[in-house]
Order: sequence, then C-alpha cells, then structure tokens
Amino acid sequence: MEYTLATGATWGCLGSCGCRSVPETDRKQLLLMPESQELSLGAQAFSQVTTDAPVSTNTAMTEVVQRVGKRIAKEAKRSDYQWEFKLLASDEKNAFCLPGGKVAIHEGILPVCQNEAGLAVVMSHEVAHALARHGGERMSQNMASQGVQQIVSRVAKKHVPTREELLMQAYGIGSEYLVLLPYSRKQESEADHIGIMLMSKAGYDPSEAPKFWSRFGSLKDGQQTFEFLSTHPSDERRQSDLLALIDEARQHYLNSPQIGLGQDLIRA
Ligand SMILES: [Zn+2]
Repeated sequence: MEYTLATGATWGCLGSCGCRSVPETDRKQLLLMPESQELSLGAQAFSQVTTDAPVSTNTAMTEVVQRVGKRIAKEAKRSDYQWEFKLLASDEKNAFCLPGGKVAIHEGILPVCQNEAGLAVVMSHEVAHALARHGGERMSQNMASQGVQQIVSRVAKKHVPTREELLMQAYGIGSEYLVLLPYSRKQESEADHIGIMLMSKAGYDPSEAPKFWSRFGSLKDGQQTFEFLSTHPSDERRQSDLLALIDEARQHYLNSPQIGLGQDLIRA
C-alpha cells in the first residue's frame, strides 16, 4: 500500500507493517508506516524542534533530566534507539517523546514534578507513547479512515505539511500550521500503564505516579498544556487505574538496585 502526500512524497508499505501488539498491554494496533520510517522522521523532527526552541541554561536541571532519561531508557530495552534528552527553556507545563527516544521536557513542568521520581512519571509516560508507537498509529488511523487529504485539509491553505510536521502533530506537538492531534484516551491509559512499570524498573517509587497526576489535575485551567489535555482520562479514572497497577509496579521497584525519590526539584 502506498500513500501520496500533497508534496508528492510517499509513505511506502511493503509488507513490513500492518498489525502488531503493543508492549505490556498486548493490544492490537494498525500501523501502516514501517518503524524504520517513523524513526528517521522522528530524528529529523526532533532536530527541527530543538533548533527552533531554546535549550535550558540550567545545567543542574539538565543533568537531572539526563540522569532520569538514561535510567528509563535502560529499562525500555530499545538499544536501537538513538536516545536524546533535552530540557527546553520554556514555561509550558509540557513534554514529549518522538520515535527513536527523542525526549524533550519543558522547564515549566519541573515544579509540578517536585522530585526526580515525579519527573520520571512524566518522562516514562512520554517514552511509553513512543515505545507503543502511538503517533504512528494515529497517522495510520487517519490514513486508513479518511485518507491523507483529510489530514492535509486541516492545514492552513498555503502551507503543505512536511512528513516531519505530520509526525510531530501525531506525537502531540502543535505547530503554527497544524491542529494538535491529541492521543486517544485509550492511548493515554496505555502510556500510564507502560510508564508506571518503566519508572518502577528504573528504581523510582511508583506511588509518585498518582500523586503527580493529582497535582497536575488540580492546576488551574489554562496552565495544563500537557500533550494529552483534550482527551486525558478523568482524574478519578486515572487515579483508580494507576492504583490498580501499583502492586505489580512495586515488585519491579523493589527489585531495582537503586530506589527512592531522587533529587528534590523544588529546593534545588
Ligand atoms: Zn500522554
């Protein structure tokens, strides 16, 4: 199967893609783009975003982001990913991870994280979206149900979106030209599930996950700029889903050689 974009570029599908199961939850998903293509688009899109957005000058916090990212990456078991962790100088309470382990954290989310384990909640949730190929799935669903033209029609008249921009949109990054394409509620719950197991294996206390989402949920309207905003599960549902996973997560946590909450981010 092959899809043609308005740019004339194509997404080829040569039998290496189709249906597969999501890690941890085993849900079947439709993927029309080969993963190799997602990875190269992810790398290109990340270099575009991090060229446009200024990187934080806070070296202490940049080190924390690197440390948490590396511990999570080790447990993600994707040695083929070219992992990168960047802290962006921005007040937004936001974060994202593109295919291939390209993670960006906005400085504005750090006070909500409160400590290193809280940051691990955010980073593992974002990494989980990438591991589960949620953006690729959203692009595939759009291609299958509506055709690429529908995606393109969301775009301002004169601008023809690049494939990198479409991928960024599918991974929850808005742009001047594209309407944000939020993750579905099912994908959000799945990222919570995969995320809490990842952070626990990395030695971060899983009880910080419901605490972080509760703090995030109580932010005033307009302050919640996280990628999932429009479809995120209700706060009660999220809490009960996470609490149902805590016992399993805690087993992973207790098996980790290094455990705890890590560095305090408020007084740092
Ligand atoms: Zn999410």
